Amino acid sequence: MSTATVVGSGPNGLAAALTLAQAGLDVTVLEAADEIGGGTRTSEALVPGLLHDHCSAIHPMAVGSPFHSDFGLSDYGLEWRWTDLDCVHPLDDGSAGVLHRSVDDTAAGLGRDGSTWRALFGGPASHFDALSDDIMGPLLRVPSHPLALARFGAPTVLPASALARVFRTEGARALFGGVAAHTFRPLHLPMTSAIGLGIITAGHRHGWAVAAGGSRAITDAMAAKLADLGGKIETGTRVTSVADLPPSDVLMFDLSPEAVADILGDRLPARVSRAYRRFRRGPGAFKVDFAVEGPVPWTNADAHKAGTVHLAGTFAELAATERDIAAGRMPQRPFVLVGQQYLADPQRSVGNIHPIWSYAHVPNGYTGDATEAIIAQIERFAPGFRERIVGHTVRSATAMGQYNANYRGGDIMTGAKDIRQLTFGPRVTLSPYSTGVAGAYICSAATPPGPGAHGMAGYHAACKALSEI
Ligand SMILES: Cc1cc2nc3c(=O)[nH]c(=O)nc-3n(C[C@H](O)[C@H](O)[C@H](O)COP(=O)(O)OP(=O)(O)OC[C@H]3O[C@@H](n4cnc5c(N)ncnc54)[C@H](O)[C@@H]3O)c2cc1C
Repeated sequence: MSTATVVGSGPNGLAAALTLAQAGLDVTVLEAADEIGGGTRTSEALVPGLLHDHCSAIHPMAVGSPFHSDFGLSDYGLEWRWTDLDCVHPLDDGSAGVLHRSVDDTAAGLGRDGSTWRALFGGPASHFDALSDDIMGPLLRVPSHPLALARFGAPTVLPASALARVFRTEGARALFGGVAAHTFRPLHLPMTSAIGLGIITAGHRHGWAVAAGGSRAITDAMAAKLADLGGKIETGTRVTSVADLPPSDVLMFDLSPEAVADILGDRLPARVSRAYRRFRRGPGAFKVDFAVEGPVPWTNADAHKAGTVHLAGTFAELAATERDIAAGRMPQRPFVLVGQQYLADPQRSVGNIHPIWSYAHVPNGYTGDATEAIIAQIERFAPGFRERIVGHTVRSATAMGQYNANYRGGDIMTGAKDIRQLTFGPRVTLSPYSTGVAGAYICSAATPPGPGAHGMAGYHAACKALSEI
């Protein structure tokens, strides 16, 4: 029987492990931390029973991903839940851009911009399942659905600030901008529309789902299925060199390119080693989890029903903060993302105490404390929030890199998603998962299709390995 060792148990590592185990390989996963899951972990940090997602929280890209659809994780306890509204972007005057799962409902709420929203997202959302094969993998391959892909793909090359100009109302512009800003790049740069268009389109098809019981349910389901397929997982095992690895036919790294370069050392072809060591990092995230008594007192009524609330004010203000963090300056009012997963999944709360997930975009390696800036940004749209906080925990940008080496300096995207790295991954090649060492592959969110708990990088990397074994 062929053997495989997977280093790292994030969603991509586990997706690769499952794909290889399902093909009959004897698979072992080695995980540095004491707990598996990488960016899909959940714990009770503040109040017993109060469930906080450490990293990933909202899953429009995972819920309908081809990997999740194929692997039947619902048989292993994974249940998706949805809030009434997917995302709300409030403005200072009390109004908001509101994202519903339905394109028509979203358009109806956007007034003069409704028809533009429908024109932009209606077609791609209705073809999303076919499109997802093309967009949730290496971008440079012969597409299965060229016409649908061309229709979806044309606007993705635009800067988000250019695409935002098709909207006339501040609500629509800010709503689009807040999702586009998940790219963590200045919004006037080319291709900064791509990630936002992908998330919005996926959400219109499948909704911004949360996992019942916390994102760790994704990990638990994958681990349970892996065990059924005979795979093994060893925690507390940090791999730092090839000497730490058992002999294997396939080596799969759910790691950053820099870590793969360190581990494979001289075995890597010089050109690959150079590219991996020059891998560019993006800005950071500063995370605060709150325990809050009662609901967040949002001024905007729709924000009370949304799983995600984006806090940045207008598109212009958002664009300025994203320019700042990319230039290494901490803005006074950063872009803050708030998660209210408990609205869809009440078991995460304890009585009237609710878990509120939040993080701010900050410069990479930011050493300051952004807690007050996050609270102030929430207070701006929910006066009285501060009085409802009964506890909070902080994971700074630098602590984020210690928590998981893939997120160096707080870069939770596992690398800057600039044009080159978004298109190709860590090096310019048509084979983004190959390391140039026979039998060794990289499958983390540094590779296409990029960040998220969708498992697609792991799945594609494993398929590549299986084709070469
Ligand atoms: C604060 C935050 C919020 C996020 N929000 C969302 C969201 O709402 N929705 C979404 O879809 N995504 C979100 N993400 C992104 C998502 O979590 C990641 O893109 C995803 O987890 C990447 O998966 P991965 O398998 O590539 O790597 P990771 O999940 O990063 O896992 C890598 C694993 O490798 C282990 N490891 C590292 N080095 C070694 C080593 N040398 N030896 C052994 N093991 C090692 C790590 O401990 C970790 O378990 C968020 C991330 C963060 C941090």
